[in-house]
Amino acid sequence: MVERQLRGRGIEDERALTAMEEVPRERFLPPDQWRDAYRDGAVYIGEGQTMSQPWIVACMTSLLELKGDERVLEVGTGSGYGAGVLSRCCAEVVTIERHAALAERAREALEELGYDNVEVRVGDGAGGAPDRAPFGGISVTAAATGEPPRELMDQLAPGAALVCPVRHAHGEDLMRFREGRAERVVPVRFVPLVPDEADAEEEGR
Ligand code: SAH
Repeated sequence: MVERQLRGRGIEDERALTAMEEVPRERFLPPDQWRDAYRDGAVYIGEGQTMSQPWIVACMTSLLELKGDERVLEVGTGSGYGAGVLSRCCAEVVTIERHAALAERAREALEELGYDNVEVRVGDGAGGAPDRAPFGGISVTAAATGEPPRELMDQLAPGAALVCPVRHAHGEDLMRFREGRAERVVPVRFVPLVPDEADAEEEGR
């Protein structure tokens, strides 16, 4: 996976590549899906959600340009795999997932692997984690519409990057925001970043 899907396709950040070599992707999936763990695509994880393609995880991790001493925020824990990879590249990870069942499974997988520098929170990640800010990097693994939530931008340390898929009229792009600048990286397809009010709608209120 690392040679063919990542290094061969332009991922150069050694920290990210080493982490992806080390973190067992299958451990974030139920056993009946282990044979899909290293395929070159997203994998279904239940609750209508997916674990991102390996290349995307590597790309998003690399874009944060981590040095190892940062605290990083991830919005959208999903399987916990991305948080696991990030946890090998920085000092501490806070990750937020709105689905309690997914958060619980992710927490278990991370614990079993002994990745004890990850805090998994349940809730709406669009507000970030102001009590732990500022962050040396923020990775949003669900697509924002138009632009990332302002609260997240406000929780960046000086010089730190926020990486986020952004939907616009003609598609969706992975974007990096840093020091007030926005860079378009690559066209992508993520599940939507669900706004707060969606919970009420889903529950039929
Ligand atoms: N990083 C994950 C992939 C995440 S898929 C992995 O490595 O497996 C995107 C996740 O974002 C989904 O689990 C979805 O439930 C979650 N999500 C969507 N909107 C959210 C929100 N507002 N707050 C927190 N999590 C959210």
